[in-house]
Amino acid sequence: MNEKHVPFKLSALKEIVEKYPTPFYIYDEQAIRDQARLMQKAFAWMPGFKNYFAVKACPNPEIMKILKDEGFGADCSSLPELLLSEKVGITGEDIMFTSNDTPPEEFQQAHRLGAVINLDDIEHIDTLEQSVGIPELVCFRYNPGEGRTGNVIIGEPKEAKYGVTRDQIIQAYRTMKQKGVKRFGLHTMVASNELQGSYFVETARMLFELVVELKRTEDIRIEFINMGGGIGIPYQPDQDPVDLFGVSNGVKALYDQIIVPEGLDPLRIVFECGRMVTGPYGYLVSQVRHVTEKYKRYVGLDATMANLMRPALYGAYHHITVMGKEDAPHDELYDVTGSLCENNDKFAIDRKLPEIHRGDLLVIHDAGAHGYSMGFNYNGKLKSAELLLKKDSTVQLIRRAETIDDYFATLRFEGSGVEV
Ligand SMILES: *Cc1c(COP(=O)(O)O)cnc(C)c1O
Repeated sequence: MNEKHVPFKLSALKEIVEKYPTPFYIYDEQAIRDQARLMQKAFAWMPGFKNYFAVKACPNPEIMKILKDEGFGADCSSLPELLLSEKVGITGEDIMFTSNDTPPEEFQQAHRLGAVINLDDIEHIDTLEQSVGIPELVCFRYNPGEGRTGNVIIGEPKEAKYGVTRDQIIQAYRTMKQKGVKRFGLHTMVASNELQGSYFVETARMLFELVVELKRTEDIRIEFINMGGGIGIPYQPDQDPVDLFGVSNGVKALYDQIIVPEGLDPLRIVFECGRMVTGPYGYLVSQVRHVTEKYKRYVGLDATMANLMRPALYGAYHHITVMGKEDAPHDELYDVTGSLCENNDKFAIDRKLPEIHRGDLLVIHDAGAHGYSMGFNYNGKLKSAELLLKKDSTVQLIRRAETIDDYFATLRFEGSGVEV
């Protein structure tokens, strides 16, 4: 069980809402720091442990600065994400560039910053060589195919567009060695939002075995394995978070059994988790516009799936707290919707909640990762603000809400005021 906690009271929220109209995202700085520290502590034995925070999960420089401060790097998959990292002072091998279907200019930017380049495919070797030459250090993303099973968000590995296959992986390293690469890493990401700790222990086993095989058959020494992201979070109140210490102990046992006897210790072990770092500590706050009775009962919010698309995209559960009614009986059944002309614009379907009225403030939980960043502008909806609830309980605006001017800024038409 995990208690669904809101880090502010209704009275404090009302003050925030007076200054920053709903909807908005708000992130809890202290909780994010605590979570980062827990991860550092759980994996402290791992040689050179680092979590490269997956920037796409929460691409806000203030959040990235907090995580840099806690010792994290950045996992980037696009040019703007690389630039965000540079802006907050994360450079060099503190950046993992894990992209796919990558254009030359992104390899150039990654190379300029000295990032670790993680290749998604053998075809990309050419693109890399033509755009920046052959770097000293290269990593490949491995896709084990039938070797592993995935889950609903990422799909089965054999159906996934990512990574180098089992048949290609040895040759891929051999080719890079022949081309003069001196340092090697090995990456995989086979699950997303996975709550079973043993899954990650098995991933470590798979990578350790490949490290040994590459040493034995190709005399290639892998200097780090990157376990990817994908550590899940308990979106449902009856779920438990992943036991990081359990994962850590399981990986340690395999390290001692597989890596140490081969003389391959130290082998650095790194992750690129996003969701588990910020997910539970970001909230989408929205106000009720209407409560309507049709064939079902609907709560209409001022947020839409354009603010948070996970429920519509994956049928994902996001817990909802009706502020000030936490202890009221949850015996009303509602669909909680937005205002898009799109019937799957729903945050919850058939959810038991306390009786809701116009003007109530709703907090949608676990929106701190893959929330704001997946937002879009369909139906002319504008992106919301992002706020940071600081350690001292003050609130800082870390991204203003979009305006109509922002919406019009990219349009070119006669009368737009911009030369066509
Ligand atoms: C999305 C992604 C991550 C982060 O995943 P989380 O589920 O947020 O931990 C890490 N690495 C790669 C390659 C990804 O695509």
